[in-house]
Amino acid sequence: MISQRTIQEVFNTAKVEDIISDFVNLRRRGVNLIGNCPFHDEKTPSFTVSPSKNIYKCFGCGRGGDSVRFIMEHEHISFPEAIRFIANKYKIEIEETEDSEAEKEKKEVTDSLYLINDFARDYYMDTLFNRNEGRNIGLSYFKERGFREATINKFQLGYATDERDEFTRKAVEKKYNIDFLRTLGLTTKSDADFFRARVMFTIHNVSGKVIAFAGRTLSADKKQPKYINSPESDIYNKRNILYGIYFAKEAIRKNDECILVEGYTDVISLHQGGIENVVASSGTSLTHEQVRLIKRFTSNIKILYDGDAAGINAALRGLDMVLEADMNVKLVLLPDGHDPDSFLVERGSEGFHQFIKDQEEDFIYFKTKILLKETAGDPIKKSIAIKDVISSIAKIPDTLKRSIYIQQCSELLDMREALLVSEVNKIIRANIKAKKIGIPNQPDPDKNEDEWLKQKTVLSTIPPELVINDAWQEKAVATILINYGHEMYDVEQNITVAQYIISNTSEILQYFDTEIPKKIIELVQDLLSKCSIPDHQWYTQNEDESIRNFAIDALTTIYVYADWDSRSMPLQNQKMPDENYIHDASNAILRLQLKKSKRLIAQIEDYLNNASDEVKSSEEYSINMKTYIYLIGQRNQIAEKLGTVTL
Ligand SMILES: [Zn+2]
Repeated sequence: MISQRTIQEVFNTAKVEDIISDFVNLRRRGVNLIGNCPFHDEKTPSFTVSPSKNIYKCFGCGRGGDSVRFIMEHEHISFPEAIRFIANKYKIEIEETEDSEAEKEKKEVTDSLYLINDFARDYYMDTLFNRNEGRNIGLSYFKERGFREATINKFQLGYATDERDEFTRKAVEKKYNIDFLRTLGLTTKSDADFFRARVMFTIHNVSGKVIAFAGRTLSADKKQPKYINSPESDIYNKRNILYGIYFAKEAIRKNDECILVEGYTDVISLHQGGIENVVASSGTSLTHEQVRLIKRFTSNIKILYDGDAAGINAALRGLDMVLEADMNVKLVLLPDGHDPDSFLVERGSEGFHQFIKDQEEDFIYFKTKILLKETAGDPIKKSIAIKDVISSIAKIPDTLKRSIYIQQCSELLDMREALLVSEVNKIIRANIKAKKIGIPNQPDPDKNEDEWLKQKTVLSTIPPELVINDAWQEKAVATILINYGHEMYDVEQNITVAQYIISNTSEILQYFDTEIPKKIIELVQDLLSKCSIPDHQWYTQNEDESIRNFAIDALTTIYVYADWDSRSMPLQNQKMPDENYIHDASNAILRLQLKKSKRLIAQIEDYLNNASDEVKSSEEYSINMKTYIYLIGQRNQIAEKLGTVTL
């Protein structure tokens, strides 16, 4: 392992402009450098490098980070590999610390598992190309599907013979450990070959290592499962992997889009047809881990479905998860009776491209239309459909995006926008509440769905304590803290921006809706109490990944945070934040305070309005009444300072 000291030295030495200019042609613009983004195709440069902040950010595809992150993403290597890469550039000597015995042993086991899988892949490929059974059955099947030999080689397709244990015997002859063969599922408990008389698909992880296999039978025997897969092992977890990701990742990045299909052969055909940004979830419905994997390369998913309507509804439901990950989802329905493979053959790659471009439809609108069509004027069915659409919209974390969807769907559904907003808010509230008391977002498949529905319904009738939420204002405060925390807020009083923000948020911190801004403010609070003020590097190199990512965004996103409330768009023509941070800091704080005090007022109002006569004569009621009057006064003061009228 590389020592912490070396890692720190690399971070301290690496200059982001040095590192990146080895790969990207950069030119100066103001205090920054700009160039064409190496991660997506673009003609006008939106890739920005900030030497003073020692970070980069692309305003086209959103990627950003420090030197180490750049090397990891650009060279597709791991963190320690990137540290070695940069150390080598700056001639920094690498200090290694000893691995523990257990770590060493674990590494040896995984190395052996990979070696065995490589051996198996070579064996299956050799059988496919060089043995009669392989050529006659396997290779002719692939050729019938239209796969060229180069494609077969690239995807490392193969064939497993019908012999009982030929592969296992050969592997043991080569001194491969029989227990490991069993672990990988290549050999059964009774020492026979697991894959027999099947064409073989090699499954790679994101860095191209062979982690598993899938075997497809060509026999017409209905008792045989069509596909069988390697079992899960230390190196293979099917929730984490997408078929084809290794071959697709570069194209996904370049196109800033990932196409999702169902089958192995769809991936291979499309790839051969020149559409390379395509992966398959291979039979299982999409998992959180797979969504996260895609998100490393793009925020845009396009799903290709074959035309039959049966599976669509079930599939649509699963996609809420993708919305939750703040990704954009588009759907393309292929004409009836076609899968991507057959459709490509019919149209050719040009026609195919054109078709998916013409037919792509946003997931939410698609869902809305499909559901409306099904309800065909039945008011009860329609109200169920509306609930369904609303619950999808409520999953979208981005407030702005959410309000655009609400607006559009209110037209599609022929429903007042305000009503839709309040319905969406009900669900968001219920979800937040459910999270707090541990009710899952989806029903547990093993348990009673009615019970879960009942819990959720009770929750969605909770009084209106938060409208949308205060994510935007909280984010603005944390953004200013990161950018200008170390600057002076008040020179005479010797108060820094960080001190100003911390002292004005400590009372409302408990009401924060968003986790990361809250975490950042808490950490800074702690640092300030130790008389230290964090600089940009403290955030961008923080051990907590969510803080690092938030900070990169905060340090590179200017303009958008200043003037905003839930209904108006950001103002574009204001002063540069760099000249304006004192004003911005106090405004952001006031806005947040205003939000929080409005929320408290609404809560107390609710209590006062619903109080029975008995409660009204209680002391508690009169305390609440006084608090209410106090809060109204406070709210008006804040509003006055902001120069806005609020009621
Ligand atoms: Zn980019």
